[in-house]
Amino acid sequence: MGYFIHTMFSRFFDLLFPTKCLRCNEEGSIVCDECFPELPPAPQNWSRRPSGLPIEAVFDYRDPTVRRGIWLWKYKGRRDILNIFARALYDQLLQDLGDQALFSGNAPFLLVPIPLAFWRRRMRGFNQTEMLAQVLASLDNGGSFIYTPEILKKTRGTEPQTSLMERAARLRNIKDCFCVTKPELVTGKNIILLDDVYTTGTTLEGAAKTLRAAGAKKVRAYTIAH
Ligand SMILES: [Zn+2]
Repeated sequence: MGYFIHTMFSRFFDLLFPTKCLRCNEEGSIVCDECFPELPPAPQNWSRRPSGLPIEAVFDYRDPTVRRGIWLWKYKGRRDILNIFARALYDQLLQDLGDQALFSGNAPFLLVPIPLAFWRRRMRGFNQTEMLAQVLASLDNGGSFIYTPEILKKTRGTEPQTSLMERAARLRNIKDCFCVTKPELVTGKNIILLDDVYTTGTTLEGAAKTLRAAGAKKVRAYTIAH
């Protein structure tokens, strides 16, 4: 009954406020089929990280549609835009992983989302990057990826990295703020670290360092936008 009421309500809501394309305003889906190919890819001019961690992103964060979409997913938990982003990342992952130079062996890859601090997750009610890992795992029929929630945890809150200008300050902020809850699941595994947006890369580097210390074999990071 609750589900029925919920469905009726959301249909009614859709009639009042139909979903419109973020780019062209056409009614239908959150990003229409015509606009999707026009979302600009992430700039490819990244240099190798000081830590040696490879980081790949799908879309260019400077694009207004990409920014708006990320915001809806990250703060409102919108699944329609998440599904579009996740599909694009999944396609890129398959392409990259098909390249044998990337990883050795055929063992499945462990998906590890960047965690939120406990209180932040409680306030928001969800972690957008965990949602991404769930969608990727459900898209993955071939069994290339394993997702076990809460392998990586945040041990303390940190300042938003974007508020800290200097690299040294950012590194201090993120230092030792992660821990691995089940090291036995990480040891010897190839890991795909996930985050929504990659700006400075220090958060991803901090997480990668913790995972390597717990015995991870190779770590590679992917984000939706940069
Ligand atoms: Zn459109």
